[in-house]
Amino acid sequence: MRDVGNQEDISTEKSRANESEIDFLKRAGREVRDFSDRNEVEGCGKICVTEDPAGVKSYAIKFTTNDSHIGCATGPCADGYKETGETLHSHGTSSTVRANVADEVLSGGKYLQGTRISGQDLFHFSAQDFATGAGYLAAPHDLLYQKGERNQIDYGN
Ligand SMILES: [Zn+2]
Repeated sequence: MRDVGNQEDISTEKSRANESEIDFLKRAGREVRDFSDRNEVEGCGKICVTEDPAGVKSYAIKFTTNDSHIGCATGPCADGYKETGETLHSHGTSSTVRANVADEVLSGGKYLQGTRISGQDLFHFSAQDFATGAGYLAAPHDLLYQKGERNQIDYGN
């Protein structure tokens, strides 16, 4: 795995009793969106699941950040949970910012430290998101899902 610099924990969110996966993702999404609003950087996490002996599923996401305006490398599942194969992330800011070292590393040198990066679209998946695989975006008012550009769902707020 590529060294992406410091990966910091944001928070670990867990579903409540009888909370559906989508309701949980909406609630967790508001937390990571709030983090991005305060810090102007991306947050992300793998959606992870566990099942009790009766087959009842519960979910968890361990949100992390690389302090990057343009990307986020997910960390591991919380203890006792398994990956679902999908992720939830938030975009940083729609404002123009100066690239930091994490932006330089995560972009593979495309954005050199100190150069200007135009803001992200907080309301839509990026081309890179579609290329990276299925997952959710915590947009400012909606939970969005994509499994390819032609297969998108807006779950509302
Ligand atoms: Zn994205």
